[in-house]
Amino acid sequence: MKFPIFKTKIKGLNRTFNLIDLQEQKEYFELKAKRGIKKLREYLKENTFVAYLLGKKNSGKGTYSKIFAEIISPERIEHFSIGDMVRAADLELVDKKKKKDLLNFLERNYRGRFSMAEIISALKKRNTKTLLPTELILVLIKREMEKKEKKALFIDGFPRDLDQIDFSLFFRDLIGHRDDPDVFILIDVPENVIDQRIKWRRFCPICQASRNLKLHLTSKIGYDEKKKEFYLICDNPNCQEARLVKKEGDELGVEPIRERLEMDGKLIEQSFSLYGIPKIFLRNSLPVKEVPKFVNDYEITPEYNFEWDKEQKKVIIKKKPWIILDDEGIESFSLLPQPIVVSMIKQIVEVLNL
Ligand SMILES: [Zn+2]
Repeated sequence: MKFPIFKTKIKGLNRTFNLIDLQEQKEYFELKAKRGIKKLREYLKENTFVAYLLGKKNSGKGTYSKIFAEIISPERIEHFSIGDMVRAADLELVDKKKKKDLLNFLERNYRGRFSMAEIISALKKRNTKTLLPTELILVLIKREMEKKEKKALFIDGFPRDLDQIDFSLFFRDLIGHRDDPDVFILIDVPENVIDQRIKWRRFCPICQASRNLKLHLTSKIGYDEKKKEFYLICDNPNCQEARLVKKEGDELGVEPIRERLEMDGKLIEQSFSLYGIPKIFLRNSLPVKEVPKFVNDYEITPEYNFEWDKEQKKVIIKKKPWIILDDEGIESFSLLPQPIVVSMIKQIVEVLNL
């Protein structure tokens, strides 16, 4: 399974962009994907599509589809996370009135191999190891869809196992998108990238914003002289400079989710060889030696290090290219989300024949 490298470098375009800056990000997309953006906006005025995001856990599914929506048309595109949907249903079970509504809906609509008592108990006890019955997921999706206005959808978290792939081939019929084109979006991210994303991620205890102490900073960095530790400071003005914290167990990286990553990998592989459904390929990394030919330097994820200037009481931030080994052991760079979204825009335009 080899994903093609997508070229985002444009000959003669010498300007560089700071892709963390929202205004510059906008200008970047206008320059690199102008025609695609225009075509998609036009298309979405009257039409929708259904896209299934297939990538390993922490491969950036949410990030890519959110940037895509922001750039193209936030009102006409929705990122639909099955995990969030299940968590919300779980919360409804705690509220008496909401629980009654949910149970009523399930009684009218649920059909499957498990009794109502069993599926409710599965919903309550759900954990990352056991999957909920597909029949339950499908009926919850149906319920969610009935509440929503019709939009283009990025579905995140379905299919989640090999059996669910078959369901996904008929999924658009179920959710009332029968005549809309559908597409599988396959995402390839080296395990080392996922590992470092987990190991260094930090969360704001107030607004839950998530960043990375090595790869994705906030605008202010602090230093704790007692603990001899650098930390990120939340950019959200409502959080009053809260210190971002680490989650218990994150220092283990991919180890606790290795089984899950393997299953996700099999899912991608299986989807890779499906017939009859268009596929697009998002590739996160590329070999160091290919960089000059395909992408610009500012499209590559940098790595940050810090030093504490005792005299000035200031944190000095150092930035350098981040080199990782991909799954085949080749020295590679990891792309920032923006060039990946450029390739996503261009490939979706092609799939939709615009
Ligand atoms: Zn915050």
